[in-house]
Amino acid sequence: MGHVRNYGIGDVVARFMRMKGFNVLHPIGWDAFGLPAENAAIKNKKHPAKWTEDNIATMQTQLRSLGLSYDWDREIATCRPEYYRWSQWCFLKFYEKGLVYRKKSQVNWCDACNTVLANEQVIDGCCWRCDGEVEDRFQEGWFFKITDYADRLLEGCKHLSGKWPEQVLIMQSNWIGKSYGAEVDFKIKEKNETIKVFTTRPDTLYGATFMVLAPEHPLVSQLSLGTKQEIEVNKFVNKVKQEDKLARTSEKGEKKGVFTGAYAVNPLTGEDIPVWSANFVLMDYGTGAVMSVPAHDQRDLDFARKYNLPIRIVIQPKDRPLDESNMTEAFSTNGIMVNSGSFNGLASEEAKKKVCEHLEDIKIGKSSVNFRLRDWGVSRQRYWGTPIPIVRCEECGLVPVPENELPVQLPLDVKLGDRGQSPLTTLGKFYKTQCPKCGNLARRETDTLDTFVCSSWYFNRFTSAKNNQSAFNKDDLDYWMPVDQYVGGIEHAILHLLYSRFFHLVFKDLGFIKSDEPFDCLLTQGMVIKDGAKMSKSKGNVVDPDEIIQNYGADTARLFILFAAPPAKDLEWSDQGVEGCYRFLKRVWKIFDDFIIDIKLAGSITKDYKTDSKELLELRRVTHVTIGRVTDDIQIKMQFNTAIAAIMEFVNHLYTFRDSWLLLKGKDDCSRPIVKESFETLILLLAPFAPHIAEEMWSLLGHKTSIVQVEWPVFNKDFTTTEELLIVVQLNGKVRQRITVSASASQEVIKSLALNDSKIKEQTKGREIKKVIVVPGKLINIVVK
Ligand SMILES: [Zn+2]
Ligand SMILES: [Zn+2]
Repeated sequence: MGHVRNYGIGDVVARFMRMKGFNVLHPIGWDAFGLPAENAAIKNKKHPAKWTEDNIATMQTQLRSLGLSYDWDREIATCRPEYYRWSQWCFLKFYEKGLVYRKKSQVNWCDACNTVLANEQVIDGCCWRCDGEVEDRFQEGWFFKITDYADRLLEGCKHLSGKWPEQVLIMQSNWIGKSYGAEVDFKIKEKNETIKVFTTRPDTLYGATFMVLAPEHPLVSQLSLGTKQEIEVNKFVNKVKQEDKLARTSEKGEKKGVFTGAYAVNPLTGEDIPVWSANFVLMDYGTGAVMSVPAHDQRDLDFARKYNLPIRIVIQPKDRPLDESNMTEAFSTNGIMVNSGSFNGLASEEAKKKVCEHLEDIKIGKSSVNFRLRDWGVSRQRYWGTPIPIVRCEECGLVPVPENELPVQLPLDVKLGDRGQSPLTTLGKFYKTQCPKCGNLARRETDTLDTFVCSSWYFNRFTSAKNNQSAFNKDDLDYWMPVDQYVGGIEHAILHLLYSRFFHLVFKDLGFIKSDEPFDCLLTQGMVIKDGAKMSKSKGNVVDPDEIIQNYGADTARLFILFAAPPAKDLEWSDQGVEGCYRFLKRVWKIFDDFIIDIKLAGSITKDYKTDSKELLELRRVTHVTIGRVTDDIQIKMQFNTAIAAIMEFVNHLYTFRDSWLLLKGKDDCSRPIVKESFETLILLLAPFAPHIAEEMWSLLGHKTSIVQVEWPVFNKDFTTTEELLIVVQLNGKVRQRITVSASASQEVIKSLALNDSKIKEQTKGREIKKVIVVPGKLINIVVK
């Protein structure tokens, strides 16, 4: 039902925009490579290719039965060679541009999944897919240089503001994590070593009374080597390496450390400061080394108190001077510089800049920018993915596979290990190849690409899905891209949504595309909740859409999922809610059936129609008010639940109207045309939500074209006014009475209302009415004898 929701939202937008006269490209494809498919296939003892294609077939049937208006001609599956050929081509383009490299580094390893994961795929220390614990490993792999684009990705967040959910932009900005500060060199005493430290607070440099290295920092064991600290340091390092990174760095986690035996020199005070190693410093942020300023950083203060390290205040608050001996809270905001040499007396904000300038003058540092974002590890040690189009030659090193030899086919006749070990590493006919450069025997890369690579550019492929000459046509990209409306879950905030933005910027730099961003507007739909938890197979609280379709029809399934909550909010599953939507559609059908003969007898409404019937005028008013509400709710607010509520109110009004219909029909020339307008409007407004019943009613009215090709009803404000006018009634030119009439009332109606008014009736009793003059909208004069 989560899928029904995501796709249902997109379908309303697609159908609505089509009816508004736009060319709409509403595509569907299968992100079909990757761990989940491979793991499920192994569990079910099937080949991943067979498993995946079977699932695609099942899903296709289900999506078709929901009546989602996809362009099936453009369907793609990322696991098919005609698609992954172009994923490989993208990889080569990135490689040519210097945005791909291979290095040995510390990586996140999920043992259960038997593969390396990107930083973005580690959530609270666990694997995003299996929730298994993630451990550090030191091994080689391929990386995309997303860090080269950190600044532009951050800048882009500003332009997306208002068009993307603010929460997603905040998550991306935080993940990119840009901070300004200084890079400072600390010399290690009696050793020929310099440690670079990044600090966001150069103004506190005079207060740096010790230094801390990450236990993983290569210098830690080197510095203690041969000192009496050596054994203790090694013991500490080994212990911390086994600890959970998240727990280590959390604010509440216990801060533990060890003195390395070495001293660094504070470059501004010239003092010796001890070098420690502590669990709360990680290797992946900055340089793995921090200068500790206990007076102005809470973590450092806690650590200094615990290990009895010196504390020095270098910034004093303006109002209440602090004292090192009794401070329990670090002073981490701005104030006045003290104990800081020539910078004393300056405001600390100003000192930040001045200290940086000074560091540059004396050549021991400079102002610098630091990012939290790390390069994207795209190597996977698994089978079910896009083969990386690189060959390793003893002579030539890493050699890209020539474009005309793509795709590097993933061999299908393989047997998978039951723990997901890739068969590619031992499959001679796959990895044994010739070097494209020198022709010598060489080894094909056996890592496959992270499935997020496949999904980072797929939307471009939809614009020319069948093209077997290139990944896309420039003209098609220019016409369709960027995507006007994207719908996807918030769980992709720093994964797919960030990677796609990165790819798009690279595509722009490669001259493929003009826009800066892939998705102009983004809607992140809420979850479908049942019994208090997100619907998921593992929790056993799943409702199968097929079952709902079987019992109630696809329109009920769609209507419920769109009506039960606004798209961005979580939706609570309710069997009664489903029943309610089903009953509503039956009510629509019933009232339509009651009126169908009259509608078919009706002509169109003429422009200068006149009617005296309050009921007909009210029906027309409600019709147009509903058009206005539904149009705004879809187009401007993207609130489909209130749009459906407006349609429901409209149907209620039609039931009320039915009570007076017997007396009205045939009375006026325009009575049937007004009814026809109302019902046709109802059907058209319902079409994006419940397309099947709408199409059926539309065709029963005798229309030959499909409802998807019919124009969306046009709202007319003139019909929605309930304005009444005050009309003066004169008898022989003298004002005798005032009556209120509807603004659209005809002369005949005004005349009859005036003559039937009780006061006027009394005064004209027994007298001959010679003439009645009506001045429209103003007065009526009755001439009597
Ligand atoms: Zn895992
Ligand atoms: Zn070679």
